[in-house]
Amino acid sequence: MAKRIALVAAIAFIPLASTQSSYANSSLSWQSLPGSLYTPPTTPWAYAPDASWPPTTIGTPLEPQAPDDELLQMLSEIDPNRIKHIVSTLANFGTRHTLSTQNSSTSGIGAARDWILKEMTAQASPDMTVELNSYIQGVAERISFPVNISNIVASIPGTDDPNRVYVVTGHYDSRRLDVMDYTNPSPGADDDATGVAVVMEMARVVALHGKPKASMIFAATAGEEQASYGATHLAKTLKKEGRNVEGNWNNDIVGTGRNEPFAAINDYTVRLFGASIFYPNASTSEEQTEAGLIGAWNDSPAQNLGRYIAEIAAGAAEAVGMQVALIYRPDRFLRGGDHLSFLEEGWPAVRFTEAVEDFRHQHQDPRVQNGTQYGDLIQYVDFDYTARVARTNLASMWSAASAPAMPRNVSISEAIGFPAADRDTPLEVLSNESQFCWNTGEDPLAAGYELVYRASGNLQWTHVVSVGDVGSVTVDLPKDDVQFGVRAVGKDGKKSPAVLPAVAGSC
Ligand SMILES: [Zn+2]
Repeated sequence: MAKRIALVAAIAFIPLASTQSSYANSSLSWQSLPGSLYTPPTTPWAYAPDASWPPTTIGTPLEPQAPDDELLQMLSEIDPNRIKHIVSTLANFGTRHTLSTQNSSTSGIGAARDWILKEMTAQASPDMTVELNSYIQGVAERISFPVNISNIVASIPGTDDPNRVYVVTGHYDSRRLDVMDYTNPSPGADDDATGVAVVMEMARVVALHGKPKASMIFAATAGEEQASYGATHLAKTLKKEGRNVEGNWNNDIVGTGRNEPFAAINDYTVRLFGASIFYPNASTSEEQTEAGLIGAWNDSPAQNLGRYIAEIAAGAAEAVGMQVALIYRPDRFLRGGDHLSFLEEGWPAVRFTEAVEDFRHQHQDPRVQNGTQYGDLIQYVDFDYTARVARTNLASMWSAASAPAMPRNVSISEAIGFPAADRDTPLEVLSNESQFCWNTGEDPLAAGYELVYRASGNLQWTHVVSVGDVGSVTVDLPKDDVQFGVRAVGKDGKKSPAVLPAVAGSC
């Protein structure tokens, strides 16, 4: 019991940290979502003068980007009954283990694959392609004989920037306690028929409307439980094609908000895991050293994608009905999923998972033991919750695919705002200002740029400085005290995710 009280206190602390922003006393609609973490503080010290440090007089408080009419229409078309149909159908294939039969139309992963392909093809628009992305995986970790691994991939090309692509994933394979048991029942309703339902329902709604400016890919992956074989193959396929993947939205276990503790909050909360700049470790050691030096360990591309998703969900709160709890981790504690395959290719990738998992209903062999029902069964899935997750994904991925690309070559200058180097150092350099620059003219969709910032302890950007269609800006804010990002703004006001400025000698 004591442990639970401590956890409640930890949750309650989050809004206090956030109230350095102007959110504290605002009446934005998304603050009033049931169970919102963003409630005004009640303790007196939150209003003490030093609680507002550092000063936030530069720019304006950030208001989350609002959805346009087209997006609102799309969000209203996400259908919990369709999600129920998809999850029920997948849960009824007996097992969807990666090594299960591929020669049956009623059971095994082959039947699931064929059904998903048929269903997505039937719902696709003429602009879309739906195809299998397959290969033969030889004997390897958790693979005891050569097996065909097939992702089902629906794509819609962007009208303006087709090489830039956003990828939503959910895995259709399932497992039991023994990860090599490929014959016995393994319904995998929550893990991860719900993620596949998010993918399929998004593709269906986009097919009814969509002509995104950048490309969108909707992928049901295989082999996740064995070692993310399908997602790795898909990421490598996109790499080989030279695609510019600006984000992977991975959905894995997104079926209910009703698990304890905190059920009342959970129902309107989805966790979003975003890896720091220190994961993975292999390819970016220079960036990692610099990030350590300037305290930017929580400003990775994945975390900035997470901030973007949380902001879009907040701006569309009334239509989405879900708040995004961004967590600074690659995944849940010591665990993993398909988005890691995209991270390993150097692309921003994040994972959605329900607020609290119920381990009685995950990876379990369906059975009643000592009066407890175990198993990942359809009865524990709340289709309205999964619909809210699908809307969170659709709102943010559609918005990103309708916006300019992230700005490139964003830097923060060492030439201004430092102590003097010698007696001739000009006075104007001896300020506490911060100077930024970035490339312009590369993306016809970009009509301008914004600088965003937050106190280093804040999860989310709190302030924005609109700078127009320029390639540099100097602001009267000490770079010692806040974290910065630069993002592009389209002609219609749609924003890209923000980019961490790299350190540069000068602009
Ligand atoms: Zn899973």
